[in-house]
Amino acid sequence: MSNTENTPAPNFIRTLIQEELAAGQYEQIVTRFPPEPNGYLHIGHAKSICLNFGLAEHFDGACNLRFDDTNPEKESQEYIDSIKDDVQWLGFQWAGNIRYTSEYFDQLFGYAVELIKAGKAYVCELNAEQMREYRGTLTEPGKNSPFRDRSVEENLDLFERMRAGEFDDGAKVLRAKIDMSAPNINLRDPILYRIRRAHHHQTGDKWCIYPSYDFAHGQSDAIEGITHSVCTLEFEDHRPLYNWFIENLPVPSQPKQIEFSRLNLNYTVTSKRKLKQLVDEGHVAGWDDPRMPTLAGLRRRGYTPASLRKFCDMVGVTRSDGVVDVAMLYHALRSDLEENAPRAMCVLNPIKVTITNYPEDQVEEYVVPSHPANEAMGERTIPFSRTLLIDAEDFMEDAPKKFFRLSQGREVRLRNSYVIKCEEMIKNEQGDVVELLCTYDPETLGKNPEGRKVKGVIHWVSEEHAVPAEVRLYENLFTDPNPDGKKDVNFLEHINPESLEVTTGYCEPSLLTAAPEDRFQFERVGYFCADRFDHGKDGKLVFNKTVGLKDSWAKIQKKG
Ligand code: ATP
Ligand code: MG
Repeated sequence: MSNTENTPAPNFIRTLIQEELAAGQYEQIVTRFPPEPNGYLHIGHAKSICLNFGLAEHFDGACNLRFDDTNPEKESQEYIDSIKDDVQWLGFQWAGNIRYTSEYFDQLFGYAVELIKAGKAYVCELNAEQMREYRGTLTEPGKNSPFRDRSVEENLDLFERMRAGEFDDGAKVLRAKIDMSAPNINLRDPILYRIRRAHHHQTGDKWCIYPSYDFAHGQSDAIEGITHSVCTLEFEDHRPLYNWFIENLPVPSQPKQIEFSRLNLNYTVTSKRKLKQLVDEGHVAGWDDPRMPTLAGLRRRGYTPASLRKFCDMVGVTRSDGVVDVAMLYHALRSDLEENAPRAMCVLNPIKVTITNYPEDQVEEYVVPSHPANEAMGERTIPFSRTLLIDAEDFMEDAPKKFFRLSQGREVRLRNSYVIKCEEMIKNEQGDVVELLCTYDPETLGKNPEGRKVKGVIHWVSEEHAVPAEVRLYENLFTDPNPDGKKDVNFLEHINPESLEVTTGYCEPSLLTAAPEDRFQFERVGYFCADRFDHGKDGKLVFNKTVGLKDSWAKIQKKG
């Protein structure tokens, strides 16, 4: 994995294009990203975006953004807007204007008429069930529809009347006349047009017939001069049909479909239908809930565009299906944040520490670097006083020898500050430790103590200066590595009931200036991001836990 972010790894598609360019097959490549605006984009789409826009960037070509909007009932402007935002947030810009398949409806209608005139399409009146029956199976050929041999004139008349709204929804369809005994079922007279009285977000009520995906997609590619129509492997069986249309229609260019394997992540669901269900049924707070694998959710969680691009690069582009470990996504994220997130201290589970030999009203201020390895990130000021908060986990009453944090009679270094020693514990009536009385060694600021070694370093905040924040702690949304994988178990049953915990954190005061979407490493705790929408509302600080510090992926790689 020696590739830096700017030079994505080569892949078989890139190699192929390289060869075609060398052979002079075309001068410039044009790719496209063609989402259907029926939901928000997810991490799988990021792979497709990085690939399509990445190829265009690499070869100095162009990549279009085209909304594949042939199912108006399921589509909406909200989805269109979110998709545009997400593509740009990831760091890509489409060539020219946004495209819509619906812009080509007139042209596509014209193509359908051409097919009818050539005797290669017909209006069929079989209902859905009959159609299924006639289609045959993988092992048996289909049967010709009784409407297959209508005359060209009759077909032209009926198709025109379909468009004019003379027939009920579903009463008739236009089908290609290819081969009902083709081994590839996609070639058994596929549907080109359906009657569907649905208001369309772009074309309004102009149309009551809509083209099928298969009929619209390749022709739209050809209209736009797409050279490489890169899509996921489930379309491999559609390729002969894709090519059939291109060969049988007077299209202005000859695009080529190339398939790659889709991204599957463990502990994650990436079906838009299921993601929509999570939203609609209130299992999450919305499409951009930080637990969602949507780009909007990942963004709100604190993912950086660079980390997602790096992840897509690590995943690579192949034709073999597999499941990627979500730990690899976390790894890509961490390695970006490790370098680029400023440090801060925040105590999530506080216990009070009083430094008994420190003057009552004294306050010291430490000016420390925001990032230990990057001076350019500036400095921050941390106040120190007699009363501090530390994380309860950094204290142990009966500590084993190897516990290098705080325990009675033992010493620990406060990050950026002195070495302190715990002299006494104060307990409440239930016997819980509620306060630690400590002493500090004034000779240890920026220096090792004389004559002894202090191994542990812990984070802390000054109690009177600490700023409370709402901290949202996230875990995987699903407990099962393959939530979608069992036929008889609904994926909702694998929802992790502990995927969100809201708590109060006590922050060093420098975090008061954090802006929405600013990311930090809370030292020794994890990476956090100021919530994009809620942070700063009514003066409240809100931080989302992006990811913990421990990298299980890097460990696995080392071992392996
Ligand atoms: P659904 O989730 O309903 O199956 P879809 O994910 O195919 O729909 P589209 O809007 O059609 O949604 O996808 C746009 C593009 O993104 C397509 O080219 C598709 O192949 C690609 N894409 C979708 N999911 C993935 C994935 N998991 N990995 C890689 N590419 C994907
Ligand atoms: Mg699709």
